[in-house]
Amino acid sequence: MSVITQPTDLLRQQDPQLADILEGERQRQATTLQMSAAENFTSPAVLAALGSALANKYAEGYPGARHHGGCEYADLAERVAVERAKALFGVEHANVQPHSGSSAVLAAYAALLRPGDTVLAMGLPYGGHLTHGSPANFSGRWFDFVGYGVDAETGLVDYEQVQRLARTHLPKAIVCGSISYPRHLEYSAFREIADEVGAHLIVDAAHPIGLVAGGAAPSPVPYADLVCATTHKVLRGPRGGMVLCGAEFAERVDRAVFPFTQGGAQMHTIAAKAVAFGEAAAPAFTRYAHRVVANARALAAALEQRGFAVTTGGTDTHLISADPARLGIDGPAARGRLAAAGIVLETCALPYGDQRGIRLGTAAVTTQGMGKPEMAEIAELFSAALRGEAAGTRTAVADLTSRFPPYGA
Ligand SMILES: *Cc1c(COP(=O)(O)O)cnc(C)c1O
Repeated sequence: MSVITQPTDLLRQQDPQLADILEGERQRQATTLQMSAAENFTSPAVLAALGSALANKYAEGYPGARHHGGCEYADLAERVAVERAKALFGVEHANVQPHSGSSAVLAAYAALLRPGDTVLAMGLPYGGHLTHGSPANFSGRWFDFVGYGVDAETGLVDYEQVQRLARTHLPKAIVCGSISYPRHLEYSAFREIADEVGAHLIVDAAHPIGLVAGGAAPSPVPYADLVCATTHKVLRGPRGGMVLCGAEFAERVDRAVFPFTQGGAQMHTIAAKAVAFGEAAAPAFTRYAHRVVANARALAAALEQRGFAVTTGGTDTHLISADPARLGIDGPAARGRLAAAGIVLETCALPYGDQRGIRLGTAAVTTQGMGKPEMAEIAELFSAALRGEAAGTRTAVADLTSRFPPYGA
């Protein structure tokens, strides 16, 4: 199975420079621990669809209404992707064309908002995404964002604060979603607040959507006007995005994706999304999603035992946010020491705002087949790496990953 992820002989003959780079990346992924909360290993079938003939195809528009000729197979692939997404998430409409999670959010805003509208979203210092009002992003430039936070003690969303801010600022939309919140968000509470002030509810489920697909997290679909998501995080598909909604928003969403914010759809990626949705509908994926959460819970508890302050005291999802301050190190320095030991993750916002912690997830290691014993082993590797035992830890990481090769031996 590893063959499919290796540069082909043809690529090596034609362009050894790139073949070396791709092989280097393959080995990096296989020999270090991928603990980024946003990453995963797609299946060989998803990779095969990405490398298929549809990579050559231009298909502006939607199935049955394209601007380009020769779209019969492109149409079939997109129809299958849409039907599978609708069945998987129990939703009336799915647009599978957004090139990324950010493109899906852009389209959601374009569908429901006008420049200058007020939007209430989680503040960036607490775990909001770039597209939730960063001044460096289109969202912060074109809309008037108001940020809600999390409780400094518990790390949990304060729904009374969300309600207060909604009553004061009367937003046109409320965005519910985060890059680092480890607990389930209460979609019904957000819906009530949105209804009270006449706002749309946009759920940015980029992180938990894979758990939703596997029945390991509550679905935002019954509550949100629009659900934006990625397809490459826990969901384990190709890099990309999608928007899910009820029939009443279907036309607005489709026009917001194409022609408002995108041109031609990436048909090879859409085919790969269809493959991933097919995989996610199988019982094996339900078991996977539950194992991801069980592993995250076990790892969070083990890290807490080793002195990390785990935000909210644990997790409901694949994602863990932790503060290593008690170990005498901050998030950015911890990330550096972990990287030197072959453990790859990122820093994140902490509930008390000013310092940064570390954010990690169990989606990739669970795909590799690791379970609770390995989570205990990983927590010990974290401790050793932060104590500065980089060389010994790097060897132990290489040993662990060699026992769980991402694409088989
Ligand atoms: C990952 C993420 C996105 C963006 O996804 P990209 O594919 O990187 O553009 C948007 N919102 C949230 C909450 C995310 O976690």
